[in-house]
Amino acid sequence: MARGLGRSYGDAAQCSGGTVVDMRSILGASDVSGGEVEVGAGMSLDALLRRALPAGWFIPVTPGTRQVTVGGALAADIHGKNHHLDGSFARHVSAITIATPTGLRRVSANEDAELFWATAGGMGLTGIVTSARVRMLRVETDRMLVDTDRFSDLDAVMSAMEAGDARYRYSVAWVDCSGPAISTRQRAPGLRAGRAVLTRAVHARLEDLAPAERRPPAAPPRPALGTPRRVPRGLLNRLSIAAFNEAWYLRAPVHREAEVQSMWRFFHPLDGVADWNRLYGPRGFVQYQFVVPEKSGDVVAAVVRELSERRLPSFLAVLKRFGASSPGPLSFPMPGWTLALDLPIGPQALPTCLDRLDAMVAAAGGRVYLAKDSRLRPDLFSTMYPRLEELSSVRQRVDPAGLMRSDLSRRLGLD
Ligand SMILES: Cc1cc2nc3c(=O)[nH]c(=O)nc-3n(C[C@H](O)[C@H](O)[C@H](O)COP(=O)(O)OP(=O)(O)OC[C@H]3O[C@@H](n4cnc5c(N)ncnc54)[C@H](O)[C@@H]3O)c2cc1C
Repeated sequence: MARGLGRSYGDAAQCSGGTVVDMRSILGASDVSGGEVEVGAGMSLDALLRRALPAGWFIPVTPGTRQVTVGGALAADIHGKNHHLDGSFARHVSAITIATPTGLRRVSANEDAELFWATAGGMGLTGIVTSARVRMLRVETDRMLVDTDRFSDLDAVMSAMEAGDARYRYSVAWVDCSGPAISTRQRAPGLRAGRAVLTRAVHARLEDLAPAERRPPAAPPRPALGTPRRVPRGLLNRLSIAAFNEAWYLRAPVHREAEVQSMWRFFHPLDGVADWNRLYGPRGFVQYQFVVPEKSGDVVAAVVRELSERRLPSFLAVLKRFGASSPGPLSFPMPGWTLALDLPIGPQALPTCLDRLDAMVAAAGGRVYLAKDSRLRPDLFSTMYPRLEELSSVRQRVDPAGLMRSDLSRRLGLD
């Protein structure tokens, strides 16, 4: 099993009792001048940006951190804030080289498309990607023009997101999941959960900036702040999370247009704080991310309500829109709504509540994101990902002895 920078939240890049290949030394990148770059699969998006951005090329899809490898980005078929327009990472990869147990292959969406798409989102289970050819995005600056809007309820922010799909390349809403519930219809006065801050952005062109600000894009900064090694247990509890969410909401403008922000503040705010995950203390937290189809947007409100009623606060809750799916049988995105939650471990009600959310998501035709998962049950997994046969037939072809496994694949019965 390959391991990149270990930024998946669960057991995807682990294989107890087996061999895990550290990909971080598989580096190297070709010249990027034509907009396409061949990259070693162990190269981080941060390192790729350091090379490509000063020449005017940005990564076409970026997650909330630059600290993931190109191989990890492909294996999880990651999405960014632009999925509704640009799709997932693999859509921008024109070819990959993959070491399967039966040999080294160069594959693409045209050449052995089955293997290519089974690998995109396939969580490393088809083989080890050694390099990928990525189509980059031309940008004139390293700044964004950001519109911010504050909404007092979930229905309103979801309507605004739908209406703005075509106008903004990037769109993301922070949703308050700290207090009692929720959407307009059930909302009682003074209740907080479900209120939201929506930020939507496009890349700034040189002409959008004041003359003194017009400079070519520069490489990303290094993390400025560190987190102490020992953080007291319970630092993030229901009250501190509620206070953080309150401050976050009140800090946001009711409506602001075309604020110039650096790419790093807009795309990767957590990268400014080294080891931010330590803030959760020794018990840590569960990331829970799901997607539901367009017609089942009401499940988002139901999930926020469920968490709120059980008094299970989420430190960060991030809502995005997804566009068309990738052809990959294990790829996560589907057209609709995705909500990502950071839930501190500790409350006794958490495991059963998450089981209930799994059932709600599966019943709505949705799924949870494997790159974030550490606890899904195999029966619901096959309901959420109904094309497992396709993955299995590709794996039988390239790995007949079943060598590629991970703790995740064993937990979910993918062997
Ligand atoms: C702060 C933060 C924000 C995030 N935001 C987003 C987001 O907005 N959107 C999103 O989609 N994801 C997001 N993620 C998740 C992250 O993008 C994925 O988990 C990604 O796969 C991590 O890459 P990695 O290099 O760390 O891979 P790892 O975590 O090391 O591995 C992930 C999977 O990829 C496989 N893999 C890794 N390298 C290879 C290779 N060379 N060949 C074959 N398989 C390989 C592993 O076997 C494993 O199954 C976020 C994670 C963090 C920590």
